[in-house]
Amino acid sequence: MPEVIVIGAGPVGLLLSAELNRRGIGVALIESREQAGPGSRAIGIHPPTLAALEGSGVTDRLLQGAVRVSRGEARSQGQLLGAVRFDQLPTRFPFVATLPQEATEQILAAEAPGVQRGVTVTAITQSEQQVTLQTSEGERRAPIVVLAGGSRSRALVYTNSAAQSYPDRYLMVDTHVAAAEDSSTAVIHLDEGGVLESFPLPGGRRRFVAWDAPHADQDPTAQQSRMERTLAVRDHRLEGTTRGFGVRRYVAPSLRNGRVFVIGDAAHEVSPIGGQGMNLGLLDAASLAPLLTDWVRSGHAPEAELRRWERARVGSARRAAAMAGLNTRLGRPAPRALSALRSNVVQLMLGPGAGRLMTRAYAMGFDHHA
Ligand SMILES: Cc1cc2nc3c(=O)[nH]c(=O)nc-3n(C[C@H](O)[C@H](O)[C@H](O)COP(=O)(O)OP(=O)(O)OC[C@H]3O[C@@H](n4cnc5c(N)ncnc54)[C@H](O)[C@@H]3O)c2cc1C
Repeated sequence: MPEVIVIGAGPVGLLLSAELNRRGIGVALIESREQAGPGSRAIGIHPPTLAALEGSGVTDRLLQGAVRVSRGEARSQGQLLGAVRFDQLPTRFPFVATLPQEATEQILAAEAPGVQRGVTVTAITQSEQQVTLQTSEGERRAPIVVLAGGSRSRALVYTNSAAQSYPDRYLMVDTHVAAAEDSSTAVIHLDEGGVLESFPLPGGRRRFVAWDAPHADQDPTAQQSRMERTLAVRDHRLEGTTRGFGVRRYVAPSLRNGRVFVIGDAAHEVSPIGGQGMNLGLLDAASLAPLLTDWVRSGHAPEAELRRWERARVGSARRAAAMAGLNTRLGRPAPRALSALRSNVVQLMLGPGAGRLMTRAYAMGFDHHA
């Protein structure tokens, strides 16, 4: 019987399994998908995550294939409103590293124990001594279980698992851009029609995310032509395939019930506008691994540390959700007068004084484990 079972081989489950494995803990990682999930979602890895993964050597491997984004600009009608300067942060990694989520998952998977694929957990129960999982492949037991199954697994543990949906929708594409584009600068265009984000990616590509009308045609061909038109205005040719997505918010009030823990998107889901969701989960995992190791080795749960961990992670998730909510609201379409007012607000936010706080906030410097 493994000492810990981790449910879900997304980035968060992979990291926790790798960290437990590295510490000599017997861990089983189970995953419902037969193959790793396709497509990229998260691209930004923030300074506190890079620092947390440095000891295991994962940061080095991530940075080998990543682009280092040292600056983020806010622009309206082409005019610079202000900038966040990650390169001026007093941290060990003064930049946001970008690489596609599937590349991050491959690096984490190389450190994790073999994933048991095609196993779906359908129920979780526990006694004083152990946790029992009902799965599509029969019962599994372990003294400790961690659910890292993402948003669709939430109902396994929370009675109130409904997320709040924002009215906003977005179009997203990763595509090649002209060589002249500055690969160390992310740009947020805040125009009357809503936000257009442009983030550097490795290989001369960029991730574009554009606000999309909630009732617009969801047919992929229609989405592709809307994105083509949006990018054409900025002289970019679209080569990749556009994907539409909606955004939600959920922050669980607790992450532990006895021998069962919940981390990553299963416990908190924040709007990707601002890009902190995966980082929150990776910090959950990196900070939980030493506590579970202590529990397994000593035979006693480190209750006080686990309570502190839970409070810190819930607090960090609430802060990230508030930040993501602010970004989402700032990125909505606005008629001319409101758009001018928004530009003034953004100038103040990124100006002297407040600008340093905002840079820290955008780089997750207010996370408890930063
Ligand atoms: C468009 C978009 C862009 C984003 N950009 C960013 C970004 O730039 N930066 C950032 O930090 N975050 C970003 N995010 C958020 C990020 O993708 C998620 O926070 C992250 O994937 C969560 O990881 P996870 O491991 O918790 O869950 P998931 O990635 O959802 O993985 C969960 C895994 O558990 C498996 N599973 C589920 N239920 C079960 C079950 N019952 N039994 C067994 N296995 C199960 C699933 O198959 C899945 O493989 C973005 C999200 C989106 C949608």
